[in-house]
Amino acid sequence: MCKVFVLDTDKRPLDPIHSAQARLLLRNKKAAVYRRFPFAIILKESRSDSPVSSIRLKIDPGAKITGIALVNDSTGEVVFAAELKHRGFAIRDALTSRRQLRRSRRNRKTRYRKPRFLNRTKPEGWLSPSLMSRVHNVESWVNRLRKFAPITAISVELVKFDMQLMRNPEIEGKEYQQGTLAGYETREYLLEKWNRQCAYCGVKDVPFQVEHIHPRSKGGSNSITNLTLSCEKCNVKKGTKDIKDFLKKDPTKLQKILAQAKKPASDAAAVNATRYKLLGVLKSTGLPVECGSGGLTKFNRTNQGLPKTHWIDAACVGQSTPTLNTKSIKALLITANGHGIREMCGTDKFGFPSRHRTNKQIHFGFQTGDIIKAVVTSGKKVGEYVGRVLCRATGSFDIATKTGRIAGISYKYCSAIHKKDGYSYGV
Ligand SMILES: [Zn+2]
Repeated sequence: MCKVFVLDTDKRPLDPIHSAQARLLLRNKKAAVYRRFPFAIILKESRSDSPVSSIRLKIDPGAKITGIALVNDSTGEVVFAAELKHRGFAIRDALTSRRQLRRSRRNRKTRYRKPRFLNRTKPEGWLSPSLMSRVHNVESWVNRLRKFAPITAISVELVKFDMQLMRNPEIEGKEYQQGTLAGYETREYLLEKWNRQCAYCGVKDVPFQVEHIHPRSKGGSNSITNLTLSCEKCNVKKGTKDIKDFLKKDPTKLQKILAQAKKPASDAAAVNATRYKLLGVLKSTGLPVECGSGGLTKFNRTNQGLPKTHWIDAACVGQSTPTLNTKSIKALLITANGHGIREMCGTDKFGFPSRHRTNKQIHFGFQTGDIIKAVVTSGKKVGEYVGRVLCRATGSFDIATKTGRIAGISYKYCSAIHKKDGYSYGV
């Protein structure tokens, strides 16, 4: 289990404790629940003298899911793990739909207006809203976790592969193969360069082998420009044949592969605007930030024999990674939901106004997205329900429980356990 966050009476984060210890404190009324997700308790008596260890926050940013782990560097223990699901694609779709609805409206009855075009500017470092939301998601969780745990350093995966290791044009024979760090960086680089597919037959999602375009036995070099990826089948078929003989029947493919191989190791493939933006945000926290590469993450994870999940990848980011203790950790699944919409008038599928909305979000002290507990004592739905609530102005709420949706629960039976914060949670 993940540990439980502890706050001192003055809300200073203390060392996270075992859940059994937290249960004892709660039962003896020495602490109170401060927050449900992530679970944090606050002490009722100050422990200003208790020593606090330092914890490292590790992040593996992804397009769909970002892995987050809190690691105690001195013991190697993973204290907390989470997987943060972004809503980038939902934002993109919503903006596309809005743009299409507005387009025709702009062109209607506007012939008297002076034409305007190319009159938009974007500030330097602008990222599209869908990408920026990922940065904001991570930022808000970094700030949140800093409130609950004594975080003193941050590690983040910045690039997929380390260009420094690529600079050396002649990688030693063994090094690009299995096991070494340079090998992992090279493989990540080749995967990116050759679009994660076999150069010869184009097959995807199979284990790839590093392949010499001009075979070693015929004087081909170990240079990165002479390497490509192929599936096992093609690798065996090609054997020690020269590429010109192997692809005699397919000259266009031959030209394509040779041209692709010559392309220099460009930083562009590794540079990712969102990750750099995130790095700037993390640096602005004032904590020391360590950057790692994807190759190094994979190297650390494989060496320790850990399975691939987003939070384990996060825990393996960077040079500082100790031998990890990931025993019985269950990651908190965090899904970004956004905060609803502000439009006052909905549109139908043709863009015409359909129905007026109210901007009132809070009904009887609850709002859609709160996690509540309802204890129904009378009627058809007697029982106890816990889940995310959907509020109506009538006071008849729906609750999304683990087993399904329960409709028509009166607000009178409800009490909030976690107020809406733009995210939903699972384990
Ligand atoms: Zn193949």
